[in-house]
Amino acid sequence: MYNVKSQKAEEFINHEEIVETLAYADANKDNIALIDTIIEKARLRKGLSHREASVLLACEMPEKTEEIYALAEQIKKDFYGNRIVMFAPLYLSNYCINGCVYCPYHGKNKHIARKKLTQEDIVREVTALQDMGHKRLAIEAGEDPVNNPIEYILECIKTIYSIRHKNGAIRRVNVNIAATSVENYRKLKEAEIGTYILFQETYHKESYEKLHPTGPKHDYAYHTEAMDRAMEGGIDDVGLGVLFGLELYRYEFAGLLMHAEHLEAVHGVGPHTISVPRIKHADDIDPSAFDNSISDEIFAKLCALIRISVPYTGMIISTRESKEVREKVLPLGVSQISGGSRTSVGGYCVPEEEDDKSEQFDVSDRRSLDEVVNWLIKLGYIPSFCTACYREGRTGDRFMSLCKSGQIQNCCHPNALMTLKEYLEDYASQDTKEIGLKLIEKELNNIPNEKVKKTAYEYIHDIAEGKRDFRF
Ligand code: SF4
Ligand code: SF4
Repeated sequence: MYNVKSQKAEEFINHEEIVETLAYADANKDNIALIDTIIEKARLRKGLSHREASVLLACEMPEKTEEIYALAEQIKKDFYGNRIVMFAPLYLSNYCINGCVYCPYHGKNKHIARKKLTQEDIVREVTALQDMGHKRLAIEAGEDPVNNPIEYILECIKTIYSIRHKNGAIRRVNVNIAATSVENYRKLKEAEIGTYILFQETYHKESYEKLHPTGPKHDYAYHTEAMDRAMEGGIDDVGLGVLFGLELYRYEFAGLLMHAEHLEAVHGVGPHTISVPRIKHADDIDPSAFDNSISDEIFAKLCALIRISVPYTGMIISTRESKEVREKVLPLGVSQISGGSRTSVGGYCVPEEEDDKSEQFDVSDRRSLDEVVNWLIKLGYIPSFCTACYREGRTGDRFMSLCKSGQIQNCCHPNALMTLKEYLEDYASQDTKEIGLKLIEKELNNIPNEKVKKTAYEYIHDIAEGKRDFRF
């Protein structure tokens, strides 16, 4: 039985409910009156249920898709302005005992080089990331209780936060590690992590079990209920995601929204972020072996529908996607992107050719962080290195109340400009610096609150004088 508040995976992600939802969506995909009502509801910016959003996903009328895109763009502007938050992944270890069939780090892959960063390696990698200008990392590690126990992850987090190189500092460490116990989540919380990210991969239980034939990850319920344990352990910013291409996208989309509804219903706060990765080529993985791949058009529609269905949830897109695809989906609701990423262990300190051999997936967007920042500015976006909320303790429902109060423009916007200014002063190329400074000049005028605007001007001036780390 479907029960949004249940603690059991198979009840809050209920297969029958998804099947009925998809049938309902199919039956109504040409029902203009219903579709218009749903779009009108989305205009209220309070989100949509998985059933309502699934009807819009099934609808193939081009004019309705255009309306959805326009609304997604408007909601993106209202909630996130033209800011895009930057981050980079940091792979700690590719030792893994799981058997995920779509990932080259699966335990049975005997020819991929296994690596685990020592604390000295981390200092080198993080220094390289700081020298690029990054302030926000997402750490990644395979599941291996011998090689990557929780103590190792905690030690790495401590090391990362302790590194200070020139004006560099990692101010927020998000963590993407395997589902674990409440006790371990509590330890991660104490280590002051930002968001705990765990991709569901697929919400379809039968497929999930086939795609994860061996290892602890095989346990669908333990994996699916991980976010509840994380929240019980005190982590109130959690990041969801599915790997599009493994199962039918409509099924995954309904499951993803049901998961968000469940977190909101039980814990009073929905997911902090949703990531939208698509399956990619890597070492012994051929994406054509998975026959549920989605086109760029469907991908864009999914992004737009996530934006209007969960307006307060950040949306993340990685360098798995090409520059072209990223350009297409940025206005539809993406709020965070990675730049200059390496997806192998130790990748920031080795030449690119070597890095290619042990990546978790092929990176489509290979530009440097400076090139990505330059490109964003030229497209009219403000690349932001902001980590203020986390550092001010504005997580979970405190973060949500900031969003809902409409004050985000007085907070995120100046923070974006100040952190961009830091980046331009410390790391940017000459061209990026020139266009960036002009952008800051122009955008300072768009801070609605006069007092905040005045203070932001002063802070920006102080950054030019060498001071760092201001925030609202
Ligand atoms: S997806 Fe994660 S758990 Fe699965 S094999 Fe890869 S690293 Fe291991
Ligand atoms: S102020 Fe908070 S919500 Fe806004 S960009 Fe910074 S960290 Fe994100």
